[in-house]
Amino acid sequence: MKIKTDTHSHTIASGHAYSTIREMAKAGAEAGLEMLAITEHAPMMPETCGRFYFSNLGIIPRKMYGMQMMFGVELNILDEEGTIDLPENLLKQMDITIASIHGPCYGESKGIEKNTKAYINAMKNPYVCIIGHPDDGRFPVDYEAIVKMAKETGTLLEINNSSLRPDGFRENTRENSLLLLRLCKKYGVFITTGSDSHIDTELGDFRYVYDVLEECDFPEELVVTTSYEKLVSHLKHWKKR
Ligand SMILES: [Zn+2]
Ligand SMILES: [Zn+2]
Repeated sequence: MKIKTDTHSHTIASGHAYSTIREMAKAGAEAGLEMLAITEHAPMMPETCGRFYFSNLGIIPRKMYGMQMMFGVELNILDEEGTIDLPENLLKQMDITIASIHGPCYGESKGIEKNTKAYINAMKNPYVCIIGHPDDGRFPVDYEAIVKMAKETGTLLEINNSSLRPDGFRENTRENSLLLLRLCKKYGVFITTGSDSHIDTELGDFRYVYDVLEECDFPEELVVTTSYEKLVSHLKHWKKR
């Protein structure tokens, strides 16, 4: 299996990432990617892009260095209602959308039941294509409920390479990713893979993703990032265009 598209990365615009769009595109193309998605943090993340940033993404070329580009957003899930931090008129314009729980925006864990509800309600949103790093043990969830809702809503669950790094700051990510993958395999639920790179040198390195996919003998047909066409056919918002 070869992962050829990356659905999750950040540039200097996010405020705590260190490469430009051009640097990211060049590195992604050199790493052999067919597609790189730039998904900057949405406005509730401290020191990140404001709404105007997202309103102007249409001017950026969607092909750079021979590689497809997508420009979207990593939304913050703010509460158990699944509230996210961009209005519908901007969500409509995004090529790709991820919704994630981040401590600075969501606060402390609210317990398994409420954390699970937060993800489930976010997945019900027709503009949320991907749940980002649901492996984060600092926000424990009922993985079976999440996997079943992903199937019902056509939302992709992400296996996040940065989460899985041994020096990563999220907790129990390998154990949780394996649990998630085994449930996706059982129920036939599609996953995506994101590097969550915050600098160009991290692009194209999916070693920790490959490790967990191999560990549970995960079926290639359920991985949408093995080609650009396959990915696009599984983005629920893209399909609406
Ligand atoms: Zn994130
Ligand atoms: Zn991210």
